Amino acid sequence: MTASSSIIVAKNSGFCFGVKRAADSIEAKLDCAVPGERIYTLGKLIHNDTYNSYLASRGVGVLDESEIEAVAGSANAESPVTLFIRAHGVTLGTEELLGRLSAENRHFKFIDCTCPYVRKVRAVAAGHSGEGKCFILMGNPKHPEVVGIMSCVEGEKHVFRSSDELEEALKTGMLGDMHKKTAVMAVQTTFDLSEWRKSREILKKLCTNTIIFDTICGVTEKRQSEAKSLSEQCDIMIVIGGRESANTAGLYDICKKNCPLTYLVADGRELRSILPEIKSKIPRVKTGIVAGASTPAGIIQEVLEIMSENTQTRAQTFEEMLEKSLKTLNTGEVVTGTVTSVTDAELQLDIGAKVTGVIAADQATDDPSAKLTEMFQVGDKIDAYVLKVNDTDGVATLSKRRVDSDRNWQELVKAYEDNEVLEGRVTGVNKGGVEVTINSNRIFVPASQTGVTKDKDMSELLGEAVRIRIIEIKPQRKRAIGSIRLVLRDERRAREAAFWDSLEVGMKFTGRVKNMTSYGAFVDLGVVDGMVHTTELSWKHIKSPAEVVSIGDEIEVYVKSFDRERGRISLSYKTEETEPWRVFKNRFAVGDVIKARVVSLMPFGAFAEIIDGVDGLIHISQLAITRVSRPEDVLSIGDMVDVKIVGIDEEKRNVSLSIRALLEEEARGELAARNEKDSSEADLTEEPEEAPVAPENTDTPAEAPEVAPADLSEATAPEAPVDTPEAD
Ligand code: SF4
Repeated sequence: MTASSSIIVAKNSGFCFGVKRAADSIEAKLDCAVPGERIYTLGKLIHNDTYNSYLASRGVGVLDESEIEAVAGSANAESPVTLFIRAHGVTLGTEELLGRLSAENRHFKFIDCTCPYVRKVRAVAAGHSGEGKCFILMGNPKHPEVVGIMSCVEGEKHVFRSSDELEEALKTGMLGDMHKKTAVMAVQTTFDLSEWRKSREILKKLCTNTIIFDTICGVTEKRQSEAKSLSEQCDIMIVIGGRESANTAGLYDICKKNCPLTYLVADGRELRSILPEIKSKIPRVKTGIVAGASTPAGIIQEVLEIMSENTQTRAQTFEEMLEKSLKTLNTGEVVTGTVTSVTDAELQLDIGAKVTGVIAADQATDDPSAKLTEMFQVGDKIDAYVLKVNDTDGVATLSKRRVDSDRNWQELVKAYEDNEVLEGRVTGVNKGGVEVTINSNRIFVPASQTGVTKDKDMSELLGEAVRIRIIEIKPQRKRAIGSIRLVLRDERRAREAAFWDSLEVGMKFTGRVKNMTSYGAFVDLGVVDGMVHTTELSWKHIKSPAEVVSIGDEIEVYVKSFDRERGRISLSYKTEETEPWRVFKNRFAVGDVIKARVVSLMPFGAFAEIIDGVDGLIHISQLAITRVSRPEDVLSIGDMVDVKIVGIDEEKRNVSLSIRALLEEEARGELAARNEKDSSEADLTEEPEEAPVAPENTDTPAEAPEVAPADLSEATAPEAPVDTPEAD
């Protein structure tokens, strides 16, 4: 501010960043509108009639929410429509409506100029409301910004205009039992700072669980504190702004508290109307001028000139005053700024200049997936390189990465000298190779050093985190060349060495079948491959590994032997648990009757498979009850037969089977049944002289009728040897 004059203009006067952004956006549209295009704002763009009249003079209409659908429906190729959402934002419902309408009609577009500060409050409202929470917003419930924010809240919600209203609601229990829920409180961006501070204290005092979001925008905070200190020094305060403007009203209240002669004027015309009242005092006093966020610079200039005329002081232009208090910027210099706004698209910085510093996301960080809102906060101090200054737009384009890059170059050189491995992210791909960014420095990795084979696409690496070694540095051009392949190679070698160091016979692995040959299957053990010979794949004889495994199968193997020098590992897929003789012994015993499949016929008998890998011999004498001359007279290969295990030779691992034994048992059973039937029929035909008396001792069995041995002997064949010959 300028203290030497009797008129002091607050430095933070006029369009705030949010309003300027919206105004610039609409001006840009006006400059490139196609013939016939209709441009509207949803409600008045700002609370300033002079500026709104100017927009109207350029053909910008003002729409009411109820007119949206009709106007959108009338948009066509000859007369497209563009609708601007002002800095306050709109309700979620309106946002959805606009989205739907623009999707339905490509000639209708809307441009969302909601201020990033307002967006932040909306995000807080959406993300911190709902079950178990009571959302409180300090602000004017009728203000469009507040209506829009509250439309994002889920569950219980309240708006309070002042700390007194809040206190009363809490003390009278209007909000229910606040011990059982979490009170989440945020604030309208342009709310009075001291009221907000009081409200925070009240909430903390009266509620147990509180989450407080300080969402007053940085611009408002600065303006209010400047208005306070200026009004404390001045005898007269002129506040310029629209009466509907929340931030202008806030500035007026602050000034009025400290300076009773505070006047609110919308423009020069209104100032002239109060001049008679204050004119007599002007020459002797210090006058302060502050302006709301929606006051155009032209109106501030007009007010300043009227005041200067009446104080016989040279009218120092508003621009000149700002110029004096603000530093000039040059491309290429490094400035330190304070973050005033953070979105995921850009950072805005106060760099103490008349322009706003803007750092786009790609100039703030190397990591394209990083979220600026998670990395930076309002109030953070940042060093940035000035890329471009545009006085017309009031923006200085800055780069934080450039500063980081300069500072980190030396670290890169040291990493090269120390042969150190660095971590970075692939941020670009071209025909010759890829670009890796490390601490804002770009390192070129030639295609041959990417570690990507020729048949694959290098673009697969884009966005990936990689480890890299610098293999060449060109200090004059600040250029570095790196290799991913060398790091991968060294890491693979280290892993292999560790693998061999720990390898022992008997170790078990789960590996994937990678390849097969006629003699075995190669299994990927993670670091190196091992081989399972065909004889180690199955307990029975197989002709090809494909009989047991397929490429891609995940199998469990163990190490039979290895040769580190030759890099060979012999594996086995066979285990003791699956060994056929062991399986057979666990499941069967002599005397068991089982089903077996005839697999070969020999002059002395037939071999039948009991389980995979174990066959038994049915000796020719055991094939039937009657004499059999040749096994093929009674059996064929592939027949499934019921057999009885009549012998197991542990040492020779032979199993003797018998069909005859089963047939004999069957014959005995039939004979016994027949005898029993005959005896019952005899009992029924011969009347007993005396009724049989039940024996006293029930343990003594009644005498069984004798069975004629001749009946059985007729069916009995000569004894079969249990000891069967070994299979060939
Ligand atoms: S006063 Fe603050 S929140 Fe409102 S539009 Fe301006 S910068 Fe955005």
